[in-house]
Amino acid sequence: MAGVYLSFPFCAQKCTYCNFASGVFPKELEQQYSAALADEIRLYPWAWTPETVYLGGGTPSRIPPETLRSWLSLIPGCPWTEATLEAAPGGITPRKARAWREAGINRLSLGVQSFIPRELSQTGRKHTPETVASEVEILRQAGIANLNLDLIAGLPHQTPVSFSASLDWIERLAVPHVSVYMLEVDEDSRLGSEILQGGLRYGAGKLPSEEEIVAMYETAVLRLGRMGIPRYEISNFARPGCESRHNLKYWRMEPYAGFGADAHSFDGATRRRNAETAAAYVERWRNGLPPCVEESPAVASEERFLTGLRLSAGILLEPHEWLRFGQPIERFLSLGLLERDNNRLRLTGQGVLYSNEVLQEFLHP
Ligand code: SF4
Repeated sequence: MAGVYLSFPFCAQKCTYCNFASGVFPKELEQQYSAALADEIRLYPWAWTPETVYLGGGTPSRIPPETLRSWLSLIPGCPWTEATLEAAPGGITPRKARAWREAGINRLSLGVQSFIPRELSQTGRKHTPETVASEVEILRQAGIANLNLDLIAGLPHQTPVSFSASLDWIERLAVPHVSVYMLEVDEDSRLGSEILQGGLRYGAGKLPSEEEIVAMYETAVLRLGRMGIPRYEISNFARPGCESRHNLKYWRMEPYAGFGADAHSFDGATRRRNAETAAAYVERWRNGLPPCVEESPAVASEERFLTGLRLSAGILLEPHEWLRFGQPIERFLSLGLLERDNNRLRLTGQGVLYSNEVLQEFLHP
């Protein structure tokens, strides 16, 4: 069954490391965006019932509860098997949590990133570890116990010791799902472009080394595994049965429909992408244009490698795929970056560390 993604690209502040098309925009744009998004959902020809809903951003926890309720009421299938709301810690109240639960939300993903105040303040985040702990409790009290906490490895001032201290908090809070992302360095974030230009702003001169970042990630794999939260995807860890059903759709190439700015859709054959920024999305709506700006056929065989190999379970290959991708597969098997179990192919622990390089090879074998 398919999933639904709603994008809300509005935030209270722009974090230094963030490379999404999200940010702080005028209230007026947010109001127009809300109307445009409601129209897009309303006009969708619902010929199927979604199994999962995911509200990402941006900071969807800033959506006024009545707006959230009205958007969700336009989507068939409530109560969904999984309905996730992404939230920034700080500002989660018992009232908000109850309103989310009543609107059909049953999973929260908290963008914690770190539990170390110095690392947080350098990125522009304002919460403390105590805020996160008390908000986790508020959510549980409201009946939302299916929680994910995001961490980033590679932040300015971070060390393997401070990263371990963040993992101590994860252990204390005993959540069922954790995501660990490596800091992405590109021109799309302020910190990334500062690093690329050799500057010092935003703590760019205080980054951990690559070896330290790898050590942090490996510590996460080890410690989360010991906590009963094994890795099931390169960046995602869950207690068995608590994997994100919505995100699994992306890696298993199951269909999903995306609504809002920069939202992607996949119907099993074609990929579509909406206008990237909130302003461009609203502009198209005001001019009576469809939100989709790009459409391309999916290249199922290659994409299956790119997405499926991210999963710890790997992928089951057909005989013709062994033939077509034989060369890169053999090379990575001999390098110890891939492993084979009958017809199943998966990344090894070492292969995960070089996943970008490995996955890239299957794009144009
Ligand atoms: S990291 Fe999250 S909260 Fe920060 S700017 Fe990006 S989307 Fe907004």
